[in-house]
Amino acid sequence: MPQPRTLKVIEVFPSVQGEGLRLGEPTIFVRLSGCNLHCAFCDTKYARRGGDDCAPEEVIDLVLTIRRLFPCRWVCLTGGEPLLQDIGALTRGLKRKGLRVQVETNGTLRRPLTADWYSVSPKPPKFSVAPGLISKAREVKLIVTRPLSFRDVQKVRRKFPSKTPLLLQPQSNLDWSFRKGWVLVQRSLRAGLPNVRLTLQAHKVFKLP
Ligand code: SF4
Repeated sequence: MPQPRTLKVIEVFPSVQGEGLRLGEPTIFVRLSGCNLHCAFCDTKYARRGGDDCAPEEVIDLVLTIRRLFPCRWVCLTGGEPLLQDIGALTRGLKRKGLRVQVETNGTLRRPLTADWYSVSPKPPKFSVAPGLISKAREVKLIVTRPLSFRDVQKVRRKFPSKTPLLLQPQSNLDWSFRKGWVLVQRSLRAGLPNVRLTLQAHKVFKLP
């Protein structure tokens, strides 16, 4: 069935990228509505449904308006799960305007997009990753939840090439999760798991959106 021309958009806002290897870079975020998973630890539950109907051209215009006062190079398409919607026209349009496009995805879906940066965050319990995304991922983020086990870390690490960093990201910057992340990194080192790193949600430290 053909998908509608409009996108369901929750919000468009300037900030800095608070997560992953692009941490600290000024970025305009486009948060798309809807998700195909139901993670208990989700910190963007408000983005699972609703949103305004916007044509891709309207979203691009809004990004360009924000960019006049916030002249950054990057746009991050996030959610929810942005790959649930047909973001091809949006991605192409943003790139035609000279912007670089990051996609933050849970990794379960794949679309033929010309994105510059895929940030893949597989989610429990299956940590499923669409085969086409495995070589595209520039980084893999794993949320350090209470149930996350070292076996889960091993399982996700093995899905991706060792050159792709696996970032352990504490759940909502909670103290117990920082401590657990440190334990998991040490265990990964001892077990010889390659390229496992610790990170955090910097936008929450800076109290940014
Ligand atoms: S995949 Fe992400 S947006 Fe979707 S429910 Fe899980 S944490 Fe929330």
